[in-house]
Amino acid sequence: MARLFVSDVHLGAGFEPAIEQFLGFLGSQAARAEALYILGDLFESWVGDDDRSEAAQRVCAALKTLTRGRGVPCFVLHGNRDFLLGQGFAERTGSILLADPVVAELEGERVLITHGDALCSDDHSYQELRSIVRAPDWQRRFLALPLANREVLADEARAGSRRHIASTVPTIMDVNEDAVARAFRAAGVRRMIHGHTHRPGVHELTIDGAPAQRIVLGAWYEQGSYLSYERGRYELRSLPRQPTGGTGPSF
Ligand code: MN
Repeated sequence: MARLFVSDVHLGAGFEPAIEQFLGFLGSQAARAEALYILGDLFESWVGDDDRSEAAQRVCAALKTLTRGRGVPCFVLHGNRDFLLGQGFAERTGSILLADPVVAELEGERVLITHGDALCSDDHSYQELRSIVRAPDWQRRFLALPLANREVLADEARAGSRRHIASTVPTIMDVNEDAVARAFRAAGVRRMIHGHTHRPGVHELTIDGAPAQRIVLGAWYEQGSYLSYERGRYELRSLPRQPTGGTGPSF
């Protein structure tokens, strides 16, 4: 059986075609898998586990069917959009939240899995923001605000993120080579899997004179995308979707 990896599904209100497609994926490919790994940004926005929006309800219920109904373990990392997923989410979905980055053992090989935003170290203003909002103290104060206020603040943050993307050179928003090399060295692995950049691909590298591989997962804005790992073989696959227009990407 295969282990499946997704990231940057970016589900939320206004992303109905992606929600439908992801629920279909959970009921078919993922239902037959040995495990599902979600490497961050499952949701376009997550302002706390008390989110009872229809989109959140549907996705959480479908994940629970996968984990509790079908018995497929589901591991979830935080992304830069849904870093407030907490224990309430884990209980609602039957999934297991993992720290980012984390080393998974896949058939005896240690593989680094991470959302990937921390590797984009050329984007200084984003890294500054990241260090603020990932601090436990900031998160406690934010989560103490009424839900409606948190939603307004999240909308403002998304608008700010779109402006930042529009005004930033694309290469600055890709991973930094030195940050990648440091992550390989720190974890002592030869393979890593991440998302975030929305640039799916398999990169063969040389780190300290030995081969290494960086696999990048795709986003779900225009189509579905997942990585399958089975018996030593990694394969990036896309799931076509009818174009519908809709909201443009925000990382
Ligand atoms: Mn991201």
